[in-house]
Amino acid sequence: MIADNVKVSLFGNISDGLYSAYVSTNGSGNQSAYVVTRKEVRDYFDGIVVAVAEFEGLAGARPIVSTYGEVFYEPELRRRLSKLKNIKLKHIRCLYEKSCGGIIFYKTRRNTKILLVKNNNGRYWSFPKGHIEEGETEQQTAIREIKEETGLDVTLVPGFREISEYSPFGKIRKRVVFFLARAFTDNVKIQEEEIDSYIWVDLQQARKLCSYDNDLRIIEKAELTIQFSKN
Ligand code: ATP
Repeated sequence: MIADNVKVSLFGNISDGLYSAYVSTNGSGNQSAYVVTRKEVRDYFDGIVVAVAEFEGLAGARPIVSTYGEVFYEPELRRRLSKLKNIKLKHIRCLYEKSCGGIIFYKTRRNTKILLVKNNNGRYWSFPKGHIEEGETEQQTAIREIKEETGLDVTLVPGFREISEYSPFGKIRKRVVFFLARAFTDNVKIQEEEIDSYIWVDLQQARKLCSYDNDLRIIEKAELTIQFSKN
């Protein structure tokens, strides 16, 4: 159902940008849904399922639909759906995911090391990151996630913001925003529930250990920025 194109027929305005509706896919019957949008919408329009939600006391899962091109991440969908009267959200699965994280570097007198982590459900080296929460800026998410996963307090290098986009599974579309983050100690305390292991490596080793193309591109960008930074 997620990412399906649907025909939407509105039947009630619940609050700003939140409507109850019926939706149908090609040939299927009508199904109850909620519409979230930042746009003005007509009573009938073509939409896309941006999330699938389960609510306490309501049988089955309901599609959450928007207009094409609008991107909604989980915190905003939760906030908007909290406006439903007497209906409490139990579980939501979203089409768009957003995480933020950091390429953490530590300069010694001799060289610069960067931190790679292997998380518990993956078998590949990458950078600390995690999902954005309600009310956070991208930078705040990155700093919080780095602290939670590694115990490090970092300073973000102004001007560095790199985006990695991929599909973690199925039709889900994920955007990860990475900042360049300077650490002032290499004393890492990993969060064992999330992180399996960590390693400080120089940039050449990092290129060998990381396998995803978008990670490699970001390492290259980080290398250039670190080279040209004065101290
Ligand atoms: P988060 O740290 O944001 O909470 P997560 O640990 O839940 O994320 P990801 O690290 O995004 O999940 O990994 C989910 C899936 O996406 C894994 O199967 C992984 O192999 C794949 N993946 C991770 N990074 C990339 C990438 N840069 N390019 C393509 N696929 C990736």
